[in-house]
Amino acid sequence: MKTFHNPHHALHQGREEMFRGRMVPCHEVPARLDYVLAELQRRSLGGLHTPEVNDAELDAAIARVHDARYTQFLASAWDEWVAMDPANAQRDALPSVWPLGNRHAFRTDVLPQNFAARLGLFSYDSGSPLTAGTWAAARGGAACALAAARELLAGERAAFALTRPPGHHAGPDFFGGYCFLNNSAIAAQALRDGGKQRVAVLDVDYHHGNGTQTIFYERADVFTASVHGDPATEYPFFLGHADERGAGAGEGFNLNLPLPRGTGFEAWCAALDTAIDAIDDFNADALVVPMGLDTFEGDPISGFTLKSEDYDTVGRLLAAAGVPTVFVFEGGYAVAEVGVNAVNLLEGFCRSI
Ligand SMILES: [Zn+2]
Repeated sequence: MKTFHNPHHALHQGREEMFRGRMVPCHEVPARLDYVLAELQRRSLGGLHTPEVNDAELDAAIARVHDARYTQFLASAWDEWVAMDPANAQRDALPSVWPLGNRHAFRTDVLPQNFAARLGLFSYDSGSPLTAGTWAAARGGAACALAAARELLAGERAAFALTRPPGHHAGPDFFGGYCFLNNSAIAAQALRDGGKQRVAVLDVDYHHGNGTQTIFYERADVFTASVHGDPATEYPFFLGHADERGAGAGEGFNLNLPLPRGTGFEAWCAALDTAIDAIDDFNADALVVPMGLDTFEGDPISGFTLKSEDYDTVGRLLAAAGVPTVFVFEGGYAVAEVGVNAVNLLEGFCRSI
């Protein structure tokens, strides 16, 4: 299995995030990726590559998933942040005002001139610092996702997009949850555009993949499934409930399997089996796995209790689905263990195909 890693990932390095009224050090740090890369090198899972994707191809793939208004915002965000106040060059951009959606009747169609307002318009939390290198790092990640999808289109059984910042909380026109471009959605759409007829996304991150769900919610050609902490108590709180089944043409093509905080491996596996059965019924010809490792018992911001050796089993179960698979690195904040856990999963998969 080839790995496509993002050489620009460390350009995104937030200083602090807002957490319940105080600023705390960022959990989503460059070392996360470095640990995975080191473990991949140590265990020789397959070739390590940087993506070969030109700018025009990359722009086109991103535009298939994200609104132009949003990507234009991301592209100029840092310069505008610093233009507000030169001292901003020394601090990350964090939003502090948001238009409440839907029934509250705030206008989101009018683009505010004030950058602080635009920062809120295109985001939904204050935990995702936007930095000088965020756009370059996010684009590098999208390129990894596109390169991994192309591997499948070329006939390979599997590929791994190793990147950060993660992506599955980013929607068509918003960032949040440390995510800016939805790498998994970009991979899924690239698979569709490359000729795969029925693409499934199976999100195994601790947190519900709200961005991916939103992107594909009204479509029948991409089936989205997510096994995650119950949003009644867990981030992202406002999406991820079991009764969200898709809408319009996408009715019945979204499956949420929320589990209570504290869930152990056996119950988690039962939910994973349910999702894999649904993907089998969907008759997917390609699978994207947003691969969060924050289901690990030692994760500092999550609440499941999977152990390192369990990830080998997860890989085996995903292989048994029998579908060409792109893995996309998402969460996982027990930094020292995230490399071992990620490669355990990938190795379990490779051993079983
Ligand atoms: Zn997560």
